[in-house]
Amino acid sequence: MSIPVPPVESGGEVEENGFSEHKELILSFLMLFIPASLLLASIFYAFSTQTEKYELQTTLIREEAALNSASELTSLLFEQKLSDLMVLAEGEVLRSYIHDPSLKNWVRVAREFSLFARRKPKYFQLRYIDNSGMEVIRINSDDNVQEIVPQSEMQNKADRYYFKEAMKLALGEIYISPLDLNVERGVIEQPVKPTVRFATPVSDGYGGKRGIVIINYTPNELLQRIADNFETLRGDAVMLNSQGHWLQGVPEEQLWGFMYGRDETFATQKPDVWSSVTSSEKGSFFTDDGVYIFKRAYPLVRKRLGTLENVDESIVPSPNRAEKRYWIFLSHISNNLIEDLTAKRMIVATITYLLLFLVAGVISVLFAKNSVQKKQAFRKLQQYATTDDLTGLANRRELDKVALREFKRATRFTRHLSVLMLDLDHFKSINDTYGHNIGDSVLRHVADICVGSIRGQDFMARYGGEEFTILLPETDIENGSKLAQRICDKIAAMPYQEGQQLISITVSVGASEIEDGDIDFNDLLNRADKALYEAKKRGRNQVVISTAGECISRLAVVNE
Ligand code: GH3
Ligand code: MG
Ligand code: MG
Repeated sequence: MSIPVPPVESGGEVEENGFSEHKELILSFLMLFIPASLLLASIFYAFSTQTEKYELQTTLIREEAALNSASELTSLLFEQKLSDLMVLAEGEVLRSYIHDPSLKNWVRVAREFSLFARRKPKYFQLRYIDNSGMEVIRINSDDNVQEIVPQSEMQNKADRYYFKEAMKLALGEIYISPLDLNVERGVIEQPVKPTVRFATPVSDGYGGKRGIVIINYTPNELLQRIADNFETLRGDAVMLNSQGHWLQGVPEEQLWGFMYGRDETFATQKPDVWSSVTSSEKGSFFTDDGVYIFKRAYPLVRKRLGTLENVDESIVPSPNRAEKRYWIFLSHISNNLIEDLTAKRMIVATITYLLLFLVAGVISVLFAKNSVQKKQAFRKLQQYATTDDLTGLANRRELDKVALREFKRATRFTRHLSVLMLDLDHFKSINDTYGHNIGDSVLRHVADICVGSIRGQDFMARYGGEEFTILLPETDIENGSKLAQRICDKIAAMPYQEGQQLISITVSVGASEIEDGDIDFNDLLNRADKALYEAKKRGRNQVVISTAGECISRLAVVNE
């Protein structure tokens, strides 16, 4: 049975409590923080393993979208051009010239073509070439200056691919050349002038072909917009033709290789990548040096033109022929770049994680403090309810509880149970002489001596005022009164010291034990109280035993 230990020295108690409080706080903190940090760590682990995948996926999606918009730009190429061409080829002025190739008619055609060129600055050449391949009308247009080229300077273009291709077409059909560079008198014009040629056969009005009308168009605006679009891509982007020659995205000296007869192409430089890129229309794939994303654009496919062009579908090249002509938009994201992208995200994630960790720590500390405070408050409340403030002994309420339990146990198992009632002798005069505070200290002093004299299973309580009760389980009256005498003698022998002053104290004790016929604890308590009264009556500083309805002095028992 536990005995509340009275406070001996206030310093010692605080230290002990402080230590356990500290331990309790740490324990409480760890109980919150460990699960929280484990949860955070597992979230972080899951997140970090997903980060690379996620970053790559989003980059791929963005890259694909940007390539798509680059390829969509190619439909710009056809705005207006096809119908412009037909207007020139089918115009009445050219028809008149074909029937009457007089100088006057030639001038009329030349002026009409020239007027057209002035309105369409991106058409840098408008020509009519006859069946033999000889230029008949030629307008050179440059920076808004239109030059009608004199007949003496006309060239024969019979051997040029565009002439041959266009002459093969039926009336009303349109030829669109690949994107290449303009050539003047066998020499590539410098600075280079990217060129697309639109051509259509000219009719004599009776179903016969009389040469072609051809417009040279420079798609600089388109190429610039594609270049701008490439700037928005994460990877290094290039635009290739279907043979793997670079049209955009590499240094000047590598562009337009096919025009200069260079063998080096993307296809020869990276054959493995090239074979993957040409195996499908779009996609992405990983190699040792990073990831490639690509998309093919078909500038000649009719459906891409949308409603921009008011041109009969039948005159546009058939899909089969068109499908051989495509451009490839390709972006390459190197491993380093992928690592960079992931690293950035990981740094952010790590900082976030550390902050969360810190926050979890702070929250855990706050919660732990709160929980320890609550526990302590509860313990204090419990202590107030069961102990006596002054001596630290159990109070009367606690005595009643323990006494009930012990009484039941003793009667059920027919065990011994004794009780001692102690009362300080003439305590009132101690108070009166030395003051109430010293009276309090004397009470504590007596309590200490008693507690130091009893066994672990015994139970001591402050009954009230200067009276104490000691419950002695498994103890008969013989041994109980022996203990009472020992306490009595000890207290008499140990005066309370206050400075130089010694204050002698004595106690009177009444002792009783459980007897047949006792109904509750009060029966033996009352007997002990009676014995105590007898002890006072018989001169104080002594032990009186109540047994079998009689009060016997302990001294008398010893003397017998
Ligand atoms: P007796 O030998 O007959 O017991 O004489 P007594 O003076 O001890 O008895 P009495 O009942 O006349 O007086 C008890 C005194 O104990 C009265 C009261 O002021 C004092 N007392 C009760 N509780 C406390 C306490 O907590 N502290 C102090 N200092 N005095 C207390
Ligand atoms: Mg009293
Ligand atoms: Mg008294």
